[in-house]
Amino acid sequence: MSQERKTIGVLTSGGDAPGMNAAIRAVVRAALTKGHRVLGIRRGFAGLLGGDIVEMQLRSVCDILQRGGTALYTARCEEFKTAEGVRRGIEVCKKTGIDGVVVIGGDGSYRGARDMSNGGIPCIGVPGTIDNDIASTEYSIGFDTAVNTVVQNVDRLRDTSQSHDRCSVVEVMGRNAGYIALYAGMACGAISILIPERPYDLERDVISRMKATLKTGKQHFIVVAAEGVGDTKALTQAIQEKTGIEARLTVLGHVQRGGTPTAMERVYASLMGHYAVDLLERDIGNRVVGIQNGKLVDYDINDALKMKKDIDEYMYRAAYDISI
Ligand code: ADP
Repeated sequence: MSQERKTIGVLTSGGDAPGMNAAIRAVVRAALTKGHRVLGIRRGFAGLLGGDIVEMQLRSVCDILQRGGTALYTARCEEFKTAEGVRRGIEVCKKTGIDGVVVIGGDGSYRGARDMSNGGIPCIGVPGTIDNDIASTEYSIGFDTAVNTVVQNVDRLRDTSQSHDRCSVVEVMGRNAGYIALYAGMACGAISILIPERPYDLERDVISRMKATLKTGKQHFIVVAAEGVGDTKALTQAIQEKTGIEARLTVLGHVQRGGTPTAMERVYASLMGHYAVDLLERDIGNRVVGIQNGKLVDYDINDALKMKKDIDEYMYRAAYDISI
């Protein structure tokens, strides 16, 4: 079957993430190299329903490897959450001759991929989200770059916090997941790392730690809080009131979604994109690819969606032990 020339669709869906372009490039180049045809579906499932589909050639993906964002654009599409939306998507694939689709996105996009697979169009999910909250993989495209962006910005904030003996509270992305906060917090030596997975106590986890380290000569502080922990403005005010140290809040926001993807991002995204084509070529669909213990893996989408992920308790504890 793998000798048969197929038409493979590729799309990015949900929130964008640096490194998605590397995955798109890998899908396009791997498929063309193996003798298949590739169609780029622009703006996710919305573009599929609207027929926003372009032929991809080897040179269509020139010069995108090092760029953030997604050359295929991304979108959210409420209609695709309905049976009728999925039915229409499958119809477009059949009319266009698409035999299988690589869906680069998060858990939501995986659900769309599962529904299309169930309807007869094999799909492979590739994890793309800066939050790293996809349970079936230890790494998702965009995470490493987002962490590095936070670290670069916090290093700058540290310079000015040090000059003024201030506390810098930095709100980072992560509504339900604290991976960015934990990794960046450890990499930046934050005195406190507040994440949605571990409800925090202001006195125990922030104030008492700051007061204790003040006594050992520390005069400036970094607190990293994931957006999911609640009102960071109130947190900043409370820190100032309770410690007497001037506290300033910086909400990093969407800068975390952009930027040049790191080398690691490009390597893993390229490997996963290539692997997704390997699967489709063998008529294998309804799977997601991922990285576990540094190696490529694939799982049934339904199994992947049932998996649970928690932050590394050892890492969380270690970060606290050494940032004093
Ligand atoms: P992410 O893929 O990053 O988790 P979303 O949750 O916003 O982002 O999902 C992206 C898109 O995937 C949605 O806009 C929709 O088109 C599709 N999608 C999400 N959930 C479902 C679902 N339950 N069934 C089918 N498609 C879905």
